[in-house]
Amino acid sequence: LFVCFEGGDGAGKSTQVQLLLSALERAGRDVVVTRQPGGTPLGARIRELVLHGDHVSPRAEALLFAADKAHHVEELIRPALAAGRVVITDRYTDSSIAYQGAGRDLGAGEIRQLQHWAVGGVLPDLTVLLDVSPEIGRARRGDVHDRLESEADDFHAAVRQGFLDLAALEPERYLVLDAGLPAEEIHRRVLAWLEDVLEV
Ligand code: C5P
Repeated sequence: LFVCFEGGDGAGKSTQVQLLLSALERAGRDVVVTRQPGGTPLGARIRELVLHGDHVSPRAEALLFAADKAHHVEELIRPALAAGRVVITDRYTDSSIAYQGAGRDLGAGEIRQLQHWAVGGVLPDLTVLLDVSPEIGRARRGDVHDRLESEADDFHAAVRQGFLDLAALEPERYLVLDAGLPAEEIHRRVLAWLEDVLEV
């Protein structure tokens, strides 16, 4: 089972990852939690370069995120799934498509192709999209230091639309939830989807 949480900055993804991890572990499942960018030692270096380094040109940024993902899938995600473990990831291909494709205007279609090539067809069984309005996102981000998190509202609005467009393309494997709902309610709906749709 491969579950991904996606959404803009301040959507509450990390809280949901932790809640789902606890619930699945209580149910006796062997769970691996990871994140993009940065789920491997190489990924951590790429994360540092892109988020805290010097200026990175948009196409270079897209390729660095793709490289992170290609490595992450081979080193961690594919072997874990093959061993029957549950993988929960905080961001995956959709973040790149939404941020670099829609947000940076590189073209969502092209970045989607690049990303799908990078992960070699390893896609989540369920992607939970925590849909966050720019206002809530800004309020929750608070004081920010990451280069990308300090982007203007119209960048975040384009990213948000990018995520929603992806969910509309494949509604059968997306659960779109309002990130403004209480965390416990979001968690309850995620569990319900896993039970009812994926019969986990
Ligand atoms: O997951 P986290 O919020 O720590 O991600 C760090 C930053 O990287 C975020 O600000 C997000 O906007 C950015 N990001 C991105 N493209 C990706 C993944 C993350 O621009 N593919």
